[in-house]
Amino acid sequence: MTSTSGSGRDFGELRRVVVKVGSGIIAPAGRLDPPVIERIAQDVTTLRDKGLEVVLVVSGAVAAGYLGMGSDRPPVSVVERQAAAAVGQYQLMTMFASVFEERATVVAQLLMMQDDIEDRRRFLSARHTLQELLSRGILPIVNENDPLADDEAKIGDNDHLAALVTSLITADLLVILSTVAGVLRFRDELEAKEGAEVISTIEVGSEIDDHITDDQSETGVGGMKAKVRAARLASDWGVPTVIASGKEPGLLSRIVSGEDVGSLFVPADKRLTERKRWIAIRTRSVGSISVDDGAKRALVERGASLLPAGIVEVEGEFGIGERVDLLDGSGQAFAVGLVSYPASEIQRMKGRQSEEFLEVLGYKYVEEIVHREDLVLLDSKNNSEERFADDDDD
Ligand code: GLU
Repeated sequence: MTSTSGSGRDFGELRRVVVKVGSGIIAPAGRLDPPVIERIAQDVTTLRDKGLEVVLVVSGAVAAGYLGMGSDRPPVSVVERQAAAAVGQYQLMTMFASVFEERATVVAQLLMMQDDIEDRRRFLSARHTLQELLSRGILPIVNENDPLADDEAKIGDNDHLAALVTSLITADLLVILSTVAGVLRFRDELEAKEGAEVISTIEVGSEIDDHITDDQSETGVGGMKAKVRAARLASDWGVPTVIASGKEPGLLSRIVSGEDVGSLFVPADKRLTERKRWIAIRTRSVGSISVDDGAKRALVERGASLLPAGIVEVEGEFGIGERVDLLDGSGQAFAVGLVSYPASEIQRMKGRQSEEFLEVLGYKYVEEIVHREDLVLLDSKNNSEERFADDDDD
C-alpha cells in the first residue's frame, strides 16, 4: 500500500494498479525489444517493492509474431492475425517470464475475450483467479485471447481490456503507457511534430476530442482515441487513470507517487457496486426499451426502478436477465439494465399498471421490469444516487 496524499496528485491509498503497455512500446517493427522489456520489468518491480499489487496488460502478440510466422508484413486477414498472435504471445511471455525470474517474480498468463466479460460466471471466475494470483505475490500478465478471438469475439483493443481488468480486480489506479507523453494539446500537425504540451488534468465531461489524433499502429489497434475512451470508462467508475509515456525509465514510480506526469483523468465522484460495474462494462445490449419522460425522470432523478407503465416500446428478442439499453423519447440511451421479464412479456405489459400483471400475463414474477439494483445510468453527471461506496459484493 502506498499513499500519495501531500504530493501533487492525491490518489489516496493505492493498493492495486493496472499497467497497460502497448505494442508500439515493446514490439516496434515486428520485434520484441529486450531492453524495453527489461526496463518495464524493473519499473514494475519498483512498484511491487513499494507494496503495490500490479496487474500488467500487455499487447504485442501480433506485433511480435508475424515475422516468426514467416510473414514479412503485419497481418491483414483475421486468421493471419490470430496465427501471428499465437506465435507472438508465446515469445512475449517467454521474455517476460525470464526478465521477471531475474527479479524473483513469478508471472502468470491470463488470456481473455469478450465472453469472459459478458458471462457473469466467467467474469467472476477470472476475478477469483486474479485475486488468488495477487494474494500469492504472482504478477498476472493479461492479454486478449487473440489466437482464438475472431472479430465477433474480440474485446477489441487492449486499452479497453485494461479498463475492464481495472474493474474486474477493483484496482485503485489505471496507468496506460503510450508512445507519447500523454494527451497532447496541439492544433495542427506542425505543432504536434515540434512537441506539444501534455494536458495534465482532464476533468469528467471535459471536451478534449479536438486534441486527440487518430494515430494507429499497424499491429496495435488503439491509438490515442482508444486510450482516452478507456481512461474515461475507468474514471467513470471512480478509478483515476493516467496516460503517460512508456519510454521513460522510472516514470511508473513517479506516477504512483502522485507526480504531475502524463495526463490524469480525474475520477467521477461515484463508486458503483461491483455488480453494477459488471452490468455497465458488458459490451452488448441485446435489445432496448424506450420509456416516457416521466419514467426517465423517476429513474434518473429519484433512483426508481423501471415499471411497466412508463414503457413505450420494446425492441429485440431477449430473455430474463439479459442486458438492454433504456432509451428516452429522442432515442438516446441513458441507462443499461438487466430485465426481469422476457421481451415478449414486456411487450404485452408496456404502458400498463403494475396491478395488471396477473390479468395480462397470468402470473406476476416481480413488479419491476428493470430493478434499480440491476440498472446503471450512463451519464455520470446524472448519477447522484449512485454515489455510494460498496466494494466486493460478489
Ligand atoms: N491484443 C493485441 C496483441 O497483443 C493488441 C491489441 C491492441 O493493440 O490494443 O497483439
